[in-house]
Amino acid sequence: MSSSALLSRFAARGAASHVAIIDANGSHTYAGVVDRAARVARGLLGERTSLEGERVALLASPGAAFVAGFFGILFAGGCVVVLSPLHPAPETRYFCDDAEVKSVLVTHDLRALAGPLAADFVVRALEPLLETPGDVRAIFDGASAIDASAPALQLYTSGTTGKPKGAVITHGNIAVQQRLVGEAWGFSEQDTLLHALPLHHMHGLAIALLTALGAGATTRTMTFDAVSVWNAMDLATVFMGVPAMYHRLFLAFDAADEATRARWSLSASRLRLATSGSAALPVTIAERWRAITGKIPLERFGMTEIGVGISNVLDGERYPGCVGIPLPTVETRIVGDDGQVAETGELWIRGPSVFAGYHRREEETSKAFVADPDGGAPWFRTGDTVRREPSLGPTAPFRILGRTSVDILKSGGYKLSALEIEEVLREHPTVLEVAVIGVPDEAWGERVVACVVARPGSAPCEPEMLRTFAKERLAAYKVPKDVLLLSELPKNALGKVVKPELGRQIRASRT
Ligand code: ATP
Ligand code: MG
Repeated sequence: MSSSALLSRFAARGAASHVAIIDANGSHTYAGVVDRAARVARGLLGERTSLEGERVALLASPGAAFVAGFFGILFAGGCVVVLSPLHPAPETRYFCDDAEVKSVLVTHDLRALAGPLAADFVVRALEPLLETPGDVRAIFDGASAIDASAPALQLYTSGTTGKPKGAVITHGNIAVQQRLVGEAWGFSEQDTLLHALPLHHMHGLAIALLTALGAGATTRTMTFDAVSVWNAMDLATVFMGVPAMYHRLFLAFDAADEATRARWSLSASRLRLATSGSAALPVTIAERWRAITGKIPLERFGMTEIGVGISNVLDGERYPGCVGIPLPTVETRIVGDDGQVAETGELWIRGPSVFAGYHRREEETSKAFVADPDGGAPWFRTGDTVRREPSLGPTAPFRILGRTSVDILKSGGYKLSALEIEEVLREHPTVLEVAVIGVPDEAWGERVVACVVARPGSAPCEPEMLRTFAKERLAAYKVPKDVLLLSELPKNALGKVVKPELGRQIRASRT
């Protein structure tokens, strides 16, 4: 049995006067946040000695109270289910029901959102728990008995391909991620992370916040707003974003006056590191960031189920469109349709950061894990199709071609990557956003359909013009049969296009 390094790392900073969090209320030291986390644990435990894996939901605005509530639940032996103020009530309800949470901790500012839960769950205000009186030393002793294999988080997938699934993530999974990502990206106490990602998701919670806390860095939290993010960059060393955030940053940049743009580009170019993940980073976005800051963002590939698995290297060449190489301890295998190891195929992953399974979804869990053909440990099937690109150099080998279920289309006997077609259409000056999907078709199997949002203020965006543009750049079978102009694309809280929903909308509009 090994105890939780996630908790011992955090508790070890209990005497540090270094700033852990800067939020809307000011600066909070590690000592202060660790002490309040222990008080939350004491308040939650009451007469009990451990919550023993009980699911406790946390609904808190980004900031020090969130961190204290989060670690408080963990110190008490509970498993955190993070709820988001961005979610509508039915979705929040779904997470609480699915996770079978016992209680919900909520900060004062969000109590109205928790109101509908009060009939069925114990809803508790977080603020009084932060102030639980008494000696908290016993809490740290209790926490040191928590095993690395215990569930720490039940994190929900983004719901890009179906209903979000509750992935059970252990203390050990997170501790490994903290170390791997922290080392790969050179995190130290000198860093200030500008954090504007949602906290209910692997990216914002574990990869951003917990990596920074694990390294003893400072995190400045905020809810994303493009102008505020630009303005806060001069105080940061690291920024982590999703492609949709970069997209919105550029819209604000273009709308700003020249002096503001000059100030923003100066502070962005002084960042030590800007990363992108959660969805494919369009080459147009990577290049725009380079034009503003001199460097493209460091792109990496991650999943709720594995954390960051593959990343571009911190120092050295970065390749637009490639996600880099596996982090240490992450084993990969690319499997072709025939089940054999291939250069292009489904990505399988194994290693200590891979999650324990989906909560109450035995069938999906058993489908997600496959036996090793060579008799080794089982593999997790990512559901993503990837290609190795060794010709680009030793640090660029993986290119994500997309999700096997929604981005890999089968049309006229060919297999196509929707992402590749999207990249080409995005180059057109009248295109603001694009999503390519396959629509069932008798003749083609799947018909390649491009859904386009036109760039405001540009020349009119004409479907035929886009098809001609695509024909000049893509093999004939990849050229979209239809180009549909839409006012917006359906997206989830992370700004990812929900392609099954887009397909439903298109089918509904045709019937
Ligand atoms: P669900 O599993 O509910 O359908 P989801 O897969 O979007 O939702 P996440 O775990 O948040 O939920 O996202 C992981 C997925 O995001 C990966 O499987 C991959 O498809 C995509 N992804 C993450 N990073 C990248 C990247 N750099 N390039 C391309 N795709 C990426
Ligand atoms: Mg997924």
